[in-house]
Amino acid sequence: MKNDTVPFVDLNAQHEPLLEELTIVFRDALQTSRFIGGPPVEEFERNFADFCGTRYCIGVGSGTDALRFALIAAGVKQGEVVITVANTFIATTEAISQAGAFPDFIDIDEQTYTMDPEHLRKYLETRCRQDTKTGRPVHRQTGNHIAAVVPVHLYGQTADMDAIREVAEQYGLIVIEDACQAHGALHFTRREKQWKKAGSLGTAAAFSFYPGKNLGACGEAGAVTTDDERIARMVRMLRDHGQIEKYHHRIEGYNGRLDAIQAGILSVKLKHLSFWNELRRRCAQHYTYLLAGTKGLLTPSEPEWTKSAYHLYVIRSADRDGLRRHLADHRVETGLHYPLPLHLQEPYLLGGRTMWNLPNTERAAREILSLPLYPGLTAYQQNLVAEAIQGFHRTDTAAAAMQCA
Ligand SMILES: *Cc1c(COP(=O)(O)O)cnc(C)c1O
Repeated sequence: MKNDTVPFVDLNAQHEPLLEELTIVFRDALQTSRFIGGPPVEEFERNFADFCGTRYCIGVGSGTDALRFALIAAGVKQGEVVITVANTFIATTEAISQAGAFPDFIDIDEQTYTMDPEHLRKYLETRCRQDTKTGRPVHRQTGNHIAAVVPVHLYGQTADMDAIREVAEQYGLIVIEDACQAHGALHFTRREKQWKKAGSLGTAAAFSFYPGKNLGACGEAGAVTTDDERIARMVRMLRDHGQIEKYHHRIEGYNGRLDAIQAGILSVKLKHLSFWNELRRRCAQHYTYLLAGTKGLLTPSEPEWTKSAYHLYVIRSADRDGLRRHLADHRVETGLHYPLPLHLQEPYLLGGRTMWNLPNTERAAREILSLPLYPGLTAYQQNLVAEAIQGFHRTDTAAAAMQCA
């Protein structure tokens, strides 16, 4: 093992056993010269819709495309408001703005780091009033309609979708899942009394197949899943310049198609996704076992209604930056997801100041740390990580004790 460094991710471990199969995908594309659309794209769309348990899957160019197209196709209009969270990748809010809407942030649940449904309810009850003409919620200060909510299934774990959907239905809101980190994540819906996959829990959902995701292409790719035929048809138009047939444009759209090589690669890898997710879950359980009882450290919590796909394994420590430096010194790579919440980033400031007060989000951003996690991470590597963490927290408490003495 090279220097015993524990890498944050290792895509080679995943690709090496599939080298032959993946190479055939490239060769077939070269031989047929079909690079955009065609049978490989249709085949992947069928496969991924089956995997998610939805009627439709529409392959697009990226997760950001998927979010933007899903919002527009579901009916979000210029000047409307879309509610989401601030501890996510900026693509979530870029897509909202690019759909012509305004992103508005609510705080997260401190245990799961995902949207807190109570904050959603409170937002609609206290910041909004009912429009007398349309019956829809309207923001009291700006007068803008609230159109949709985008819960983000962060780190591979579904948001509290039962509660979020209940509030959304009460107020007539569209629900677009940001499932870009949650391929194969499961959610128990109390209403239907069954486990369902991320991507099948809202009006429509967006997936990213960026290489590092649980299901990753060898380039850029994404998909929208939905049960709604009208939305599916609209996303198909949007991704292809608004075309309904060649050079007949019903609307102005985008260049946002999934290419044939990526689709072929994704079909090869999709067959292994459930197994890979199972390996991720085992690694996560092993970390939790190894780190149990470590003072000053919080491991991920998984409510009984969700089975995380563990895109990331995120711990929490009051001295996160110290711990991160200590781990780097011990050749353990780590990540921050995300170090600066969106409501504190420049595009969302007004006169250099934020308009949002999101204490849970800000505290989490200061304390979270993502540990190495990928299918193929060994128990030996996990032991190295855990020992390094415990070394830090021991010396940490020892130093504090000495200061007291
Ligand atoms: C990766 C990601 C996206 C964007 O996906 P791209 O394929 O990079 O456009 C959006 N939202 C979240 C939560 C993500 O993790």
